[in-house]
Order: sequence, then structure tokens, then C-alpha cells
Amino acid sequence: MSTPGATAVFGGTFNPFHCGHLGSARDLFSVLPLRELRFVPAAQPPHRDAPGVSAEHRARMVELAIADDARPRCDRRELERAGPSYTVDTLQSLRDELGAEASLMLVVGCDAVLDLPRWRHWERLLDLAHIVVLARPGWEFPVDGTVHDLLQDRSATAQELGSIPAGRTRVQELTPRDVSATQIRALLQSGDEVSRLVPHPVIEYIREHGLYTGATGPTQE
Ligand code: ATP
Repeated sequence: MSTPGATAVFGGTFNPFHCGHLGSARDLFSVLPLRELRFVPAAQPPHRDAPGVSAEHRARMVELAIADDARPRCDRRELERAGPSYTVDTLQSLRDELGAEASLMLVVGCDAVLDLPRWRHWERLLDLAHIVVLARPGWEFPVDGTVHDLLQDRSATAQELGSIPAGRTRVQELTPRDVSATQIRALLQSGDEVSRLVPHPVIEYIREHGLYTGATGPTQE
């Protein structure tokens, strides 16, 4: 018998971790039957340029942002694995850990789900987990095609997601948060204020380590 409640996996580059990530995660606890939510920083994101800030710094920023929050946690498994951080490998290792009966949910923003058919072994993702998609200001859900069909044909209620292990999808309405890491990096580079967009402990860490100040260069360790 598995522990009641689902595990949500919220992956990302978190370069840096911001209030869009944290606020969305907090909201998810009130709309989905969650036992836990794990932020999983990508060590080597496979589908984008290498982040200019090391995985260790990015994971630390997640950990500091959630230090006072009892519910979300940071899962470092992608930092402990060599090679590109494929989501299918992360979900498989979580499935192995949680058991076949546990409800597992992969949380992705609308921008990320549009790219889904290019992810490694993407067809297997729904064998391993549900996919919960968050609307994001500036991004539209597809009106046709593979991702549209998947979101429509596999659609389930929050309660259904909690009662079966994997295989369903849900577009989850949350408070929209118009914030992105790209926007924050640009603001920091030009010395602008980010206090409404980034959790305070993350801002302190960025200052302490001099992150996001110079032009894009080698990874900041
Ligand atoms: P970048 O601007 O560098 O692409 P980002 O802000 O999209 O970064 P990521 O770390 O790439 O941040 O995002 C991790 C996950 O969180 C993705 O699934 C993304 O879609 C989602 N996400 C990021 N920001 C938001 C937001 N404001 N609202 C909802 N989902 C978000």
C-alpha cells in the first residue's frame, strides 16, 4: 500500500529560481491532491544552451528559496547523474523509488509542453507519470497537433490524477504570473530591481556570488 497523495515533479533550469516557480508550486498544493512537490534542477538541460550558472548554484538557489517552506523540496538527482538531464530518466528513477502504485505528476509550463514531442522518449513519459500543464502569460496552448490531442484525449480531473499512478493530463488553472528567468537575467545585467520577481534569499545569494552581472560567458562556478 503506497502513501496517500501524489508526488509532483517540477523540473527546470531555475536560472535563476523565481516567484513564478515558487508561487505556482505553492498554489498546486491547494488544487491537486499532493503529498509532496519536488523541484528538480536540470544539471545539463538537453534542449537548450548550457546555462551560464553552474547546476550547484542553481540548486542552492532553489534550496534557499524553499528553506522556510515545509512542503516543497529540492531533489538533486539530476546533479548526481552524468550526461544530459533527460526527464524520462528522472521519472523512471522516481517511479522505481515510489513504486508502481504511487501517483506521480510531471508539472510543466505551457512553453515547455509545446516542445514535448522533441523530448527524449517522450511517449514513455505518460507511462511513468501524469502531465500537469500550467498556463503562462505570453504562451498559447496548441489548437491542434500532437500536444493538443494529448491534452484533450488524456484529460482528467485533479482527483482522478491522484487516484491512478500515471497516464493522464491536466491543464491546471492557477494565478498567472508574468515572470521568466530570461527577463530576470536581463534586469540583473542592467542593474535593475528584481525584488518583486525573485524570492529574497535568492537575491541575496545572487549578490553574494556575483551571478548574472557580466556578459554571457563561461559557466559561473
Ligand atoms: P527561461 O526564461 O530561462 O526559459 P523560465 O522562466 O522558463 O526560464 P525554467 O527554469 O526554464 O524558467 O522553468 C521551469 C518550469 O517552470 C518550466 O516548465 C516552465 O514552463 C515553468 N515556468 C517558469 N516560469 C513560469 C511561470 N511564470 N508560470 C508558470 N510556469 C512557469
